[in-house]
Amino acid sequence: MTTIIWFRQDLRTADNPALSQAVAGGPVVPVFILDETQGGGRPLGGASRWWLHHSLSALSDALGGLVLLRGDPAKVLPDLARRTGATSVVWNRCYEPSAVARDTRLKAELAAGGLAVASLNASLLNEPWTVTTQDGGPFKVFTPFWRACRRLPVEPPTPAARVKLAKLPKGLGERLADWRLLPTKPNWAEGFESAWTPGEAGARHRLDGFLADGLRGYAELRDRPDRQNVSRLSPHLHFGEISPRQIFAALSMHMADGGLSRDGEKFLAELGWREFSYHLLFHFPTLAERNWKPAFDAYPWSSDQKHLSAWQRGRTGYPIVDAGMRELWATGYMHNRVRMIAASFLTKHLLMDWRRGEEWFWDTLLDADIANNSVSWQWVAGSGADAAPYFRIFNPSAQGERFDSDGDYVRKWVPELEKLPSKYIHAPWTAPEAVLREAKIRLGATYPGPIVDHAHARVRALDAFKSISHANRGNEP
Ligand code: FAD
Repeated sequence: MTTIIWFRQDLRTADNPALSQAVAGGPVVPVFILDETQGGGRPLGGASRWWLHHSLSALSDALGGLVLLRGDPAKVLPDLARRTGATSVVWNRCYEPSAVARDTRLKAELAAGGLAVASLNASLLNEPWTVTTQDGGPFKVFTPFWRACRRLPVEPPTPAARVKLAKLPKGLGERLADWRLLPTKPNWAEGFESAWTPGEAGARHRLDGFLADGLRGYAELRDRPDRQNVSRLSPHLHFGEISPRQIFAALSMHMADGGLSRDGEKFLAELGWREFSYHLLFHFPTLAERNWKPAFDAYPWSSDQKHLSAWQRGRTGYPIVDAGMRELWATGYMHNRVRMIAASFLTKHLLMDWRRGEEWFWDTLLDADIANNSVSWQWVAGSGADAAPYFRIFNPSAQGERFDSDGDYVRKWVPELEKLPSKYIHAPWTAPEAVLREAKIRLGATYPGPIVDHAHARVRALDAFKSISHANRGNEP
């Protein structure tokens, strides 16, 4: 029996339940379908397209071949089955609302057309409907959610499937290069090449490196963008080049060996935030577009395009924010602490709608992920589930001093401040004129002065919040 394995966000051969099931039945037709409309969802961002190109190339090498097709899966899959003689189709589940709707429809249509169809779980420790509160509903607060998850068993990962490819008709499939997923003129992804190795082997390498060198001290040092104590597994996880089950198993072994239980638990809890984001988006499908707290619909957002553009280009005059935005542009990644600072600055200091920031991240992040991105943005903006208390408005300079105390991170990404003494690096406008001159900085010329004053912006944000807060109690879903 020939089976089509439809790859989506599970671009790996190990611990891939759909692939294992397909292989057990006989020869397989591995296919990836580029659906520019994402089944009515959101077109891929630029950085994601770069990653996808390389990840598909790696998967094709690992499998010994991958059929690349374009179009609506509802047409592509039955046609592919006809051409290859496949009698069944199997895939791993996605959880974004548009994907759920598409897959549900597709399952019925393919079955009606005489194909056997199966879907499995490859990308979560626990699927959204398997974790419930005592009264059977979804969780809305992280801590009890994660406590409930930690009580559930996690299945061990399975080894790489031994794939026997079906004989394919000549001329089937397209060339990856023809999909033009990579940028050319200009090639803004140049900096990605040295920073990342997309694909299953790159993911494994990243995990091993993190377990060996990054995990010890993670619980504290994960907040330091100047240190190498985070895993940088997020794009690999998003594209499914590694599964949370594989990470869980590797981590459990490592924790038992090395007495790293505090750091290991903290790291697992971050994977827990990923699970929680998927849980929320699945149960509250408008979360990616609409405020979780409807009171925020009346929030007086600003539409100042100059401010938005200064934020995007890393020219706000707040070094830690600018360093983060430039790291993002250069490498497709931004450290989590800095994401929080940059997002807080956009939504609270500049009063910009979180959706403007979410869109920019969607286009520029290699790990751009509908669930993680929208839940995190709403969390920072204060409009989301289990969100940070609104009055906790980050002071970007104080955050910089605390988490990048020597200014190494800022110096790396904002080289025009390189010669500024650490004492002033997070607030250059406080440096005496002579110090600025010595460091070859002219504020407003070589580096911008702050585009908003922190104290003023803070009061303005609190006032804006007060204007909606009378309606802000108890009206979330
Ligand atoms: P580690 O610290 O090594 O964490 C391990 C894994 O846990 C990550 O790879 C990720 O899968 C998961 N994780 C960690 N923190 C979070 C979190 N807060 N929420 C959900 N999952 C988490 N993450 C994305 O994967 N895609 C996004 O589009 C995204 N957008 C974000 C937007 C904002 C405004 C903020 C504040 C955070 C966003 N995050 C997003 C969450 C987090 O910043 C990244 O997952 C993390 O920085 C990735 O780096 P890492 O792999 O080194 O993390």
